Order: sequence, then structure tokens, then C-alpha cells
Amino acid sequence: MKPVKSSPPSWLAELTQITGPDQTLSSLPELWAYARDRLPYATYMVRDGNLPARLPSAVACPADVDELRRVIELSRREKIPLIPFGAGSGVLGGTLPMDHELVVDLKRMNQVIELNTLDGTVTVQSGMNGGQFEAWLNERGYSCGHLPQSLHMSTVGGWAACRGAGQNSTRYGKIEDIVLGLAALLPDGRELRVRPVARRAVGPSLKDLMVGSEGAFGIITELTLRVWKLPEARHSVVLGFETLKTGLDALRQIMQAELRPAVVRLYDAAESAPRGASVGIGEGRPFLAILEFCGSPRMAALERDLAMEIVAAHGGVQLGDEPYEHWCAHRYESYSPQWQSKDYFMDTIEVTAPWSALPALHARIAREMQSLFPGIHFGTHWSHVYPEGACQYMTLRLPPMERSEGLRLHREAWHLTLTACLDLGGTISHHHGVGVFRNPWLREELGTGLELLQGVKDYLDPDNLFVPGKLALRAREGAVNLEHIHHE
Ligand SMILES: Cc1cc2nc3c(=O)[nH]c(=O)nc-3n(C[C@H](O)[C@H](O)[C@H](O)COP(=O)(O)OP(=O)(O)OC[C@H]3O[C@@H](n4cnc5c(N)ncnc54)[C@H](O)[C@@H]3O)c2cc1C
Repeated sequence: MKPVKSSPPSWLAELTQITGPDQTLSSLPELWAYARDRLPYATYMVRDGNLPARLPSAVACPADVDELRRVIELSRREKIPLIPFGAGSGVLGGTLPMDHELVVDLKRMNQVIELNTLDGTVTVQSGMNGGQFEAWLNERGYSCGHLPQSLHMSTVGGWAACRGAGQNSTRYGKIEDIVLGLAALLPDGRELRVRPVARRAVGPSLKDLMVGSEGAFGIITELTLRVWKLPEARHSVVLGFETLKTGLDALRQIMQAELRPAVVRLYDAAESAPRGASVGIGEGRPFLAILEFCGSPRMAALERDLAMEIVAAHGGVQLGDEPYEHWCAHRYESYSPQWQSKDYFMDTIEVTAPWSALPALHARIAREMQSLFPGIHFGTHWSHVYPEGACQYMTLRLPPMERSEGLRLHREAWHLTLTACLDLGGTISHHHGVGVFRNPWLREELGTGLELLQGVKDYLDPDNLFVPGKLALRAREGAVNLEHIHHE
């Protein structure tokens, strides 16, 4: 049954006074537009005309911190649960309304406040679009180094809230390494400011209390990030390896040799085949890798040459440039709509594991996926690498089938993947975050740590108004419980 809109909330007129009639949305199409993010489960529901969870009660688009503060005051007084909304590109259901929350869209708070070229920092409002932010910096000769595939469909605040990673993270770090300081409004309306300094020793990191809190602890309004001069040179190499093990070993040794490639991508055989066909991947060397080094011409060339010595010692050979050029041309495109619109059940799952665990982790998940459904497409790449381990990024795709069966297999695929990850010493997310979909496994991973987070949440937000029920924190009574999809 299609949901119909219930009567307007009693506080809507007051909200409209705060954000204005044009920036307070409450029509049915507008509420539907904010009833989902890029969580694949939500797509499976919406494409059949179903609501994934609930409609929001309304959508408010504050112009500035003052309006946002007044929205929060209203929420506190009227006990209105709310969800900060960046661009809705999250893939774990973080912005999904579970209890008719008020959605607070931050995209109008989109100004660069200051570029400080002496300190190498930029301060920006959290609602700024990622692509526009990076373009603004590029025009001035800088980059913040955070270039997620979703660059043009996400906000700077969303990057920090989800603890995201860009495609150049191996050189520039994840967002938690790039954020130096921030401002946020807490659920009681107070402002938390963390000074933008290089390092500090003033107790546990309050910055990290907010970075990754997915809106549950406060709304980030402003961020100060590191910036870097645009590199003068980029040197890319496309490689073929005989085995996955030699490819992984080469990447590990490159990182342990303290080299800092900007881009590192190693693909398993399933992902290498389509990407490397033009350069002969599959003829004795079925594993494709792409590396890019950047910086000053001499340093980038030296790092490339040192890396190539390690590659050669592992039997890797250099191939033609086409796979790198193709990747560059399409690096910010989204592939899922072409499959989801044809009723496939597609999803991606990214985890982190130590080098010692990665080969077994990949082999176990690949094997269990095939047992689950022999026709499944399962492909993997490793694209954010560290001296100690790497992110394993997996894509799964099930063909069109009865929705209940597709959902069952999709759920099983998640379960076997994250169970293997936890069994082998990994963490269940490298950069997409938790949202609502990863709740069951986060409990298992954090154990006592989750009780600590719940304690912080209870202190900051005693009425459980900010993004309730996400990040494995307590849900509101009467809210939709999406966990049934894990247990059916
Ligand atoms: C095709 C595609 C590719 C992707 N590629 C990447 C990638 O390469 N790297 C990566 O890290 N992620 C990637 N993602 C996931 C997603 O884009 C990121 O998580 C992104 O950071 C979310 O930003 P957003 O502004 O869209 O946040 P939203 O989806 O709007 O919100 C996500 C969560 O953050 C909270 N939130 C948003 N803004 C704030 C704020 N200012 N203060 C407090 N809480 C807030 C929301 O309440 C929600 O819980 C991809 C997604 C898609 C669809």
C-alpha cells in the first residue's frame, strides 16, 4: 500500500517562520524525495513503489547557523526527532526517516569561509557540495585531497559525518586525517568548537567524537581541512600480476617502504577482466593494478621508480595506459543505477583487514558467495592501502528475481561477508559508515565500546532526537525496525 501523508504537524507553521515558506517542504512528492538515500535496500523497495521506512514529517532547509540553531531549539521544545541531511548519497540508510523525523537539509550552508595559504587550511560550511568545493580550491591552485567517487553528489559535512575516504586517501589520508577542526551544534543547542590545529594533547579527541558520529551527536556546521598545492606532476603505471598474492604483497611492500602513491587499485580476476581486456589482462597475468604518484616531478618520478622495483621483484609487469585513462575519465560516475533500474540486486561492501588476513578473507567470501548463489557477480578491489592493511571493497550483483528471494540472498550476502570480516580480525566498515543497515554487526564489533557510545549519546541527547536508531544506538519507541530484514 502506498503511504499517504498524514495531517501536517502542529509545529509546521513555526518551522516555516524560521526557514521561510520556500525552504520548508511538506508536500507528498517532497517528503518522498527525502524518504531514502542511496542504501540499495531502499532502492529495491522504492523501485517497486514501496517506502523503505517512513516519510519525514517535513524538511527544513536553514540558510545559516542561526536558523539551524532555531530549528534545533524547536526540535528540543517539541521533542521532534531530526536527521541532518547533506546530499543523501550515504549507502547505509543514515538519512532514512524511521520515526517521521524532521529532515534538516544543510545544502544552503555552502560557503567557503577562509582559505589560509600560509597554514595550508581551508574553512568551509558543512553543506557545501564536494565537487563545487574541490573546484573552488582547484581554481586557486589547491586541493583538499579528498576525492570520493561520490564527489559531486555529497557534501563536505557528509564526508566528515560518515568518516569517508577519497580515492587518493593512500597519500592524503581519510577525512579524519584531513579535518583539523570543526564547529557543531549539539542537541541542546550549544556549540562545540574544536580548534583547527596540527596536533594537540588536551585529552581524548573531541574532533573524533564528531567525525564519524553520523549526526547522532550533533550537526557539524563548519570544518577546517588541510589543503595541498595541486601536484605539478602525475605519473601513472598500469600493472599485471600473475597471482593475487603477489599483487597484494607488492602493495604491502610499497607501503611499508614508506612510499606514498596517490592512487592504488588492485583488482581481483573478476574485476580485472573487463578493465584490462585492452592491455591483455588474462594472458598469464589476470590481476590488474593501477598506481598513480604525484607531487613535484622529481619526487613523483622517484617514488614511481622505487615502487616499480618492488613490483618487478613480485613478477609484476607494466602494461599500456588505457585502464588508467578509462578509470580517470569515469572516476566520479555511479555504476549502480544501470543495474538497479533493470531490477538487479546490486550492492557494495567495504571492510578493512590486516594484510595477514586479506587473502583468506577474500577467498572465504568469494567461496561462500558462490555457494549462496552460483550466478552471483562478486568482484573485489583493494583501493585504500596502508602499511598495516587495506580496505577490501566488494561488489555483489544478483540477477532480477522475486523480491523476497532477492532480499533474502542480499541479506545472506551481507551476513556472510561481515561475519567473515569479524572472524578474521577486520572492521566492518572502512569508509561508508554504519547508518541503519550495519547496526547488527556493529554491536558485535564494538561490544563494550557501544555501551560507551550509548552513554555519550544519552548525555548529549537525553530525548533521543538526533538521528535515532542509527549507528547501532537505541531506536525510538514505535520507530520502524529495519533489523527484521536481517532476521527474517
Ligand atoms: C556512487 C557512490 C559512490 C560513493 N563513493 C564513496 C567514496 O568513494 N568514499 C566514501 O567515503 N563514500 C562514498 N560513498 C558514500 C557517500 O557518498 C559518503 O558517505 C558521503 O560522505 C555522504 O555524504 P552526504 O553529504 O551525501 O551525506 P548524507 O547521505 O546526506 O548523510 C550521511 C549521514 O551523515 C549525516 N550527516 C550529513 N551531514 C551532516 C552534518 N553536517 N553534520 C552531522 N551529520 C551529518 C546524516 O544524518 C547521515 O547520517 C558513495 C556513495 C555513492 C552513492
